[in-house]
Amino acid sequence: MRGARPVKGRYRDLRSAANAVLIAVMFAIPWIRIGGDPLLLLDVPARKFHVFGLVIFPQELIYLWALIAIMAVALFFFTATLGRVWCGWSCPQTVFTDVFAGLERRIQGWTGTSRPRKVAAWRVVATHAAWLSLSFLVAFHMVGYFVSPYAWIARIESNTLGAGVGFLGALTAITWADFVFVRQSFCRFLCPYARFQGVLFDRDTLVIGYDTERGEPRGKRSKTTGDCVDCGLCVQVCPASIDIRDGLQLDCITCTQCIDACNGVMTRIGREPGLIDYRALSSLEEGRPARLVRPRTVAYGTLLVASLALFVVLVGARIPVGFQVFHNRDALTTVLPDGRLGNSFEVRLENRGGEPRRYTLRLEGAPAGFELLGETATIDLAPEQSLRTHVFVVAPIDELHADGRELQFIIEPLDGAHSALTRGARFLSPADANDA
Ligand code: SF4
Ligand code: SF4
Repeated sequence: MRGARPVKGRYRDLRSAANAVLIAVMFAIPWIRIGGDPLLLLDVPARKFHVFGLVIFPQELIYLWALIAIMAVALFFFTATLGRVWCGWSCPQTVFTDVFAGLERRIQGWTGTSRPRKVAAWRVVATHAAWLSLSFLVAFHMVGYFVSPYAWIARIESNTLGAGVGFLGALTAITWADFVFVRQSFCRFLCPYARFQGVLFDRDTLVIGYDTERGEPRGKRSKTTGDCVDCGLCVQVCPASIDIRDGLQLDCITCTQCIDACNGVMTRIGREPGLIDYRALSSLEEGRPARLVRPRTVAYGTLLVASLALFVVLVGARIPVGFQVFHNRDALTTVLPDGRLGNSFEVRLENRGGEPRRYTLRLEGAPAGFELLGETATIDLAPEQSLRTHVFVVAPIDELHADGRELQFIIEPLDGAHSALTRGARFLSPADANDA
C-alpha cells in the first residue's frame, strides 16, 4: 500500500484537474441516452453495439473493427509524437491509482508529503471503506459499458439481481486489490502497451528527460558546479521506482511527478526550474529541437486520416436494414396436397435505424407459376428490431428446370426511405434437397 511519495506542483495540479474530468466522463457515459438510445453500450446479449449514435449489429462488425483500428492508429500517432501521454495522463490505472492514494492521504491525515507516524485503527478502517465504495463505483460503471445501469436499477427494483450481485462483488474486490496493492506495478509487469511502445518511439518523441549537461556533476550545492543537488526527491516520488537521471527508461509512464519534485527543489535553492522536463532525446543529446514532421509521424498521421475518412465513407454507405434469406433446413422441400413443390425460407430482417419501418417482400423475375406465400405484404419493424419470419415459395413440380430456379427476393420500404434490397436464393428440387 505504501506508494510513491506525493508531490505538489504545476503538473500535479493539471493532472488532478484532468483526472476529475476523465472520471466524470467515464462515470457519465453509461447514463447518457440520446433519443432513448445509450451513447455507448456494448450489449452482447442483445447482439447490438451502441456507439455514439450508431447501432452496430453482428453482421456489421466491420464498423466496430474500423473503430478499433482508428483507436490503434491514433495510439501509434500520439505515442510517436507525445510518448506515453496516454499512460501518464489518461490511463484508468494511473488516474484511479492517483485518486486512491489521495483518499488514503486525506483520511489518514497526512501533512504535506509526510505519512503520520501512527495511524488510528478507525482511520485505516475508514480508508478501506472509502476504497471499497469507490471500487464498487468503478466496477459498476465499467460494467455499465456492457449492461446498462438502468437495467441494473430495474433488476434492483424488481429484486431479480441474482448472479449479478456476485459478479459485481467480485469485480469490486478485483478493483480494490488492483488500486490498493498492484497500483503502478501493473504498468511495469502486466501492461502490454508498455512492452511494445519502444518500437513507436524515436529520437524526436517527447519524453521526460533529465538535462545531464546542466545537472552534472551532481552533488552538494557548495561542492559542485552541476545543478542537481542529489537530493533524491525525483526518485522518491517516482511510482515506477526510476532514477530518471540514468536516462530514458521504458518503465517511465511520464507521470510528471519527478518534474514537479525537481522544480520545487530548484525554486527553493534559487535555480532555474526545468532540470527535469518534457523534452526529446534529440534536444537532450544532440542539442537540436524535436521535429514533429518526420517519416514516422507522417505515416501514422496519414493512416489516421485515411482510416477516419474510410470510416465516414462506410457509415455514409451503410444500408439501413439488414436483409438475409436462408433455406429452412428443417423443411427444405415439401410436396403440397395440390401436387406443387414448396421450399421454406427463413427471412431475417434488422431495422438498423431509429425510425419504425414498414416493408413489403416480393419475388421478382421468377419463372411462371412460382408463387410467394406468407405474411409478406406488410412487415413492420420497430426501431432496432431484429425479426425472423418464414415464407414459402411454391412451384409446379412438372415445370422445374435446372436453369430456371434462381429466385430474387426483394424487400422494399413502403415509405420509400431507401432503395429496395435484393437477395438471391435457389429453389430446390427434391434431388437438390437430398444432396444438401
Ligand atoms: S521517471 Fe518521472 S515521469 Fe517517469 S514514471 Fe518516474 S516520476 Fe513519473
Ligand atoms: S530532484 Fe532534481 S536536484 Fe534532486 S536529485 Fe532529482 S534531479 Fe537532482
